[in-house]
Amino acid sequence: MPVPVLDLWIDGRRTPSRSGRTGEVFDPARGEVIRRAPFASAAEVGVAVAAAKAAFPAWRDTPPVRRARVLARFREVLEANRDALARIVSEEHGKTLADAAGSVQRGIEVVEFVTGAPHLLKGERAEDAGKGVDCHSVLQPLGVCAGVTPFNFPAMVPLWMFPVAIACGNTFVLKPSEKVPSTSLRMAELAKEAGLPDGVLNVVTGDREAVDALLVHPDVAAVSFVGSTPVARHVYETAARNGKRVQALGGAKNHAVVLPDADLAFAAEALIGAAYGSAGERCMAISAVVAVGAAGDPLVAAIAERARRLPVGPGTAPGVEMGPVITAAHRDRIRALVDAGVAEGARLVVDGRRFAAERGFFLGPTLFDHVTPAMSIHREEIFGPVLVVLRAQTLDEAIALVNENPYGNGTAIFTRSGHAARRYAREVQVGMVGVNVPIPVPMAFFSFGGWKQSLFGDLHVHGPEGIAFYTRRKVVTTRWPAGEEEAGGTLAMPTLG
Ligand code: NAD
Repeated sequence: MPVPVLDLWIDGRRTPSRSGRTGEVFDPARGEVIRRAPFASAAEVGVAVAAAKAAFPAWRDTPPVRRARVLARFREVLEANRDALARIVSEEHGKTLADAAGSVQRGIEVVEFVTGAPHLLKGERAEDAGKGVDCHSVLQPLGVCAGVTPFNFPAMVPLWMFPVAIACGNTFVLKPSEKVPSTSLRMAELAKEAGLPDGVLNVVTGDREAVDALLVHPDVAAVSFVGSTPVARHVYETAARNGKRVQALGGAKNHAVVLPDADLAFAAEALIGAAYGSAGERCMAISAVVAVGAAGDPLVAAIAERARRLPVGPGTAPGVEMGPVITAAHRDRIRALVDAGVAEGARLVVDGRRFAAERGFFLGPTLFDHVTPAMSIHREEIFGPVLVVLRAQTLDEAIALVNENPYGNGTAIFTRSGHAARRYAREVQVGMVGVNVPIPVPMAFFSFGGWKQSLFGDLHVHGPEGIAFYTRRKVVTTRWPAGEEEAGGTLAMPTLG
């Protein structure tokens, strides 16, 4: 049976693609194609960029307070549509409705943050920076900005980007993941409903061709990317070579260190959510536990007991706590990594491969114990419901193990010792740290981002760094001579003081 084909969203209206190429969008819980997303051609990306460029002067010249009012209405409209958006997220991604609604809420909080645009864009002023000289800085928009997003947060990650960019006076072209395109298209319609002028936000669905067209387009000033590390590196290098400002957030392997003095029941519950929530398809998921000393055996027993009972099924079904993974290919890759873990000698405590024969792209929660750092299940980002437990004797050993990891997105420590927690937070080479908090995603008024191979670029997303990313600072130095001063002509380097 033919399935519907989505449109692009250009200049405030649905625009059918003529590229002739499309991709399948699945309901991963049923393993069926439910719609197709156009793969925009480079020429169609050019049309979207041209619409954004044409909308830029008027939007730039709209005072921040008026832009903020549009964003405040957008926040209201998103709130009113939160459950409907969560349903689309769950349908195309597979995560549970409660999880999807939480992720939409975290995105809405970014919109809430940028309703403070007039304050956030104020700049600084110094009276008498020199004798009779005043100085002030202004934050001006860059122009057309582009965003490229991954499949795992269809609402939240796009909301990390375009609301901040447009609050700062930029216009935007968003290229969402071709696996989950519908949420972004719906949010663009809702932004129009909230009063966003046509052309300020455009959405092109597509694959590598559309992304590469954005990376080299002369009218794109900045690119925000979130996805896997190899693509993040490609985006960073290509866009930077083409003179653009870039922030490219990559993959992760996040460790939780559990010390023997921790509340182990609390830690086990927290780790169940952090490892298996969203079927492990979160860049902040905990995928490795470093159990220190005597914490190991009781912790593994508690996690295993709960993991075996975890209700797995379609994300839209009541009572389900874990849905499917995104595609059959991804499920098979995870299965192959679990097979490799067994072959490498790790102890498979809970085996989730039993779900693989069912309809839909399901795997059960999987738990490995006695994993060593060199094993592939520890080295690779699995991005599925697989938790590996490594054993360490001391906190020093645990810190060294975490810091050897090439990624540096998120981490957590579970302990009752303030001293140990403080030391861990200071010494660990990771961008976001939780103390008895398993998924330390910062609130929208802080910035989100990792270190090492989890981020290419200098600035993290949303919060103050998001504002810095989407603006250029200009410093204006002013003197108003009264008339009686001596003429200022000198060839020496002028000093103001
Ligand atoms: P992905 O890298 O495959 O795709 C991300 C985006 O890049 C998509 O829009 C895709 O169309 C595009 N793309 C894919 N291959 C490309 C190529 N060769 N050239 C140009 N563009 C290309 O990532 P994914 O599978 O959608 O998402 C999962 C990954 O994202 C995981 O590695 C996860 O850790 C990461 N992620 C990171 C964060 C973070 O904040 N650091 C957040 C969410 C997801």
